[in-house]
Amino acid sequence: MSQIHLLPDLLVSQIAAGEVVERPASAVKELLENSLDAGSRDIRLDLEEGGIKLIRLSDDGNGIAEDDLKLALTRHATSKIASLDDLERVASLGFRGEALASIASVARMTLTSRVAQAAHAWKAGALDGKLHTPEPAALARGTVVEVRDLFFNTPARRKFLKSPPTEFAHCDEALRRVALAHPECAFTLAHNGRISKRLTVADWQARALDILGEDFAAAARTLDEAAGPLRLYGLAGLPAYSRSGRDAQYLFVNGRFVRDKLLSHAVREAYRDVLHHERHPAYVLFLELPPEGVDVNVHPAKTEVRFRDGRGVHQFVLHVLERALGAGREKGVEMGAGFSTPPFSKGGPGGISEPLRESDATNPPPAPLWQRGAPARSAAYSPYAGRAPAGHSAQEPAPYYQMVAEALADTSAIRNPKSEIEYPQSRIADAPPLGYALAQLSGIYILAENAHGLIVVDMHAAHERILYERIKTAFDARAVASQPLLIPVVFAATGLEMATAEEAGPALAEMGFEIAPVSPTHLALRALPAMLKDADGERLAREVLKDIHKFGLSGAMNARRNELLATLACHGAVRANRKLSVPEMNALLRDMEGTLRADQCNHGRPTWFQLTLSDLDKLFMRGQ
Ligand code: ADP
Ligand code: MG
Repeated sequence: MSQIHLLPDLLVSQIAAGEVVERPASAVKELLENSLDAGSRDIRLDLEEGGIKLIRLSDDGNGIAEDDLKLALTRHATSKIASLDDLERVASLGFRGEALASIASVARMTLTSRVAQAAHAWKAGALDGKLHTPEPAALARGTVVEVRDLFFNTPARRKFLKSPPTEFAHCDEALRRVALAHPECAFTLAHNGRISKRLTVADWQARALDILGEDFAAAARTLDEAAGPLRLYGLAGLPAYSRSGRDAQYLFVNGRFVRDKLLSHAVREAYRDVLHHERHPAYVLFLELPPEGVDVNVHPAKTEVRFRDGRGVHQFVLHVLERALGAGREKGVEMGAGFSTPPFSKGGPGGISEPLRESDATNPPPAPLWQRGAPARSAAYSPYAGRAPAGHSAQEPAPYYQMVAEALADTSAIRNPKSEIEYPQSRIADAPPLGYALAQLSGIYILAENAHGLIVVDMHAAHERILYERIKTAFDARAVASQPLLIPVVFAATGLEMATAEEAGPALAEMGFEIAPVSPTHLALRALPAMLKDADGERLAREVLKDIHKFGLSGAMNARRNELLATLACHGAVRANRKLSVPEMNALLRDMEGTLRADQCNHGRPTWFQLTLSDLDKLFMRGQ
């Protein structure tokens, strides 16, 4: 007797359901998509016990005619495509003709529907995937789909369901995803008879606000750019709004929520310079392209896509996002706006004091240090010349500026102050944007005074930022200066470290490192980037080898390069509890003013904020 036999239809559907219907939320997603495909403008979703007991979806769409009711539950029966050609340019959310059949095979389902021209609605129940004969029913318009007792006939799957509140949360999330991409439709969600969400028709921005909250919108940049057939629009959360989880990441391709490696990679890249790798950005991004440019038939749940021109899409998304995240921040400290959150002003993010921004507008910030070439004993370094103390012309910098310029000529200035100088109080009105250092607090913060009040700087974070930008620039110019060590740092290395060091020799050299084996078990660090000469050599060497191993050689030098440079910067930056003198602190402040994106460290944390005099006045209730 033959061992191989055809599976019964029901079992085939149940197998397919394994991919399409994982939990109530996946059924919810499919039903919502069907309603949108039917042109609905008002959708109501009623759930009981997290959707396990009941999912009822009511829409005002085109409806299903009596004859089609039977077919709707048949596998591979769809009204949306008819040919391969259609499949290649599919514009509807559904097209596989699988969802209703799958759901009906693992739950008790009824369909009630009415098309506009019909005299009344038709209703049909289905059990074990078979539809009963439709009967006349009452319904004004559209379709009502009821799904009861999910997985009642597949106990093994039912066991994997979580508690009703958890399942409800997943359903809610499924609705959020669909609703974000379809602001033209109103949605109502009810759980156990109580309304839990009501979304009115809106534009995409208002919808995003409804769903993600005003906090997010206030801490996000709006973007909308097109290039050829590609368009990317949405909201990109600023680093200060980052999360420890990936809960607020919404990527849509042609109105379809997707989880796509290529796109997520592009987004991560764009955030890499401004966000710690353990933090996750929040965003809602809509990518639009002609349907033939993307294959959506990759997975039964249709959450994966494949782009015809993956590279092009990747570059486009990366650049649009980079621009959006960098916009308004190109110029030194000005970009503090949006990143500082003064605890005493109600303004929320963006609370940097207005006067500072104003004055920056009239006094353009200095070119970044590296662009000035060799700094800067001369008048060439006079970013604040216009504000130089009286008695000194712009061409002839005051001693203070000279001191700073000299200090900056040595990139490790903050470690080797040239001399002690104090700044007269009377100069505060002309102080540079980040002011003059007053003191160090708790070994962590620099307190400085400018015309508007108090500036607080996280010194490690700030120094890290400066080093990072410098290393990056030097690296781009293939001009990382290497500092040979008089006494090499020899350390016991693992087999992996030994192998990595040998393999990565040229790459290491490009970064200014020389790490070579001195025995089968020991490595010697013979040279390191001059900028990092004060770092703990052994730790630095180990970190670099670890990163190179983790990223892979070619990857390390290209895609993950900045991460690697960030590691270097982190190790090179001043540690907490290091006592800084006032000139050292001032040198750091001046460096920050000249550094691109100095307002946030490589980990996306802000590096400084301003507490204005009026903030302080409010705190002490002066003048009230
Ligand atoms: P697909 O969406 O891939 O076509 P489904 O199994 O989800 O497959 O649905 C089968 C068919 O049933 C759809 O093609 C559509 O014609 C019809 N249908 C399902 N839900 C609705 C609805 N809410 N309103 C109108 N038609 C619907
Ligand atoms: Mg469908």
